[in-house]
Amino acid sequence: MDAKLLEILVCPLCKGPLVYDKNRLELICKGDRLAYPIRDGIPTMLESEARELPADEEVRA
Ligand SMILES: [Zn+2]
Repeated sequence: MDAKLLEILVCPLCKGPLVYDKNRLELICKGDRLAYPIRDGIPTMLESEARELPADEEVRA
């Protein structure tokens, strides 16, 4: 994924920075504990498409 693209992407909810999880291909908002999927290289920045991170799931990267 393009590092420049990652820099301009923010969480649509809190406008906070996102962490790219290259193993799961997700963009993670640590504040909201939501993971946005990246499909075919394109981040899906929709709350309705995001996965809620379980409390015990460590946010890496
Ligand atoms: Zn957020």
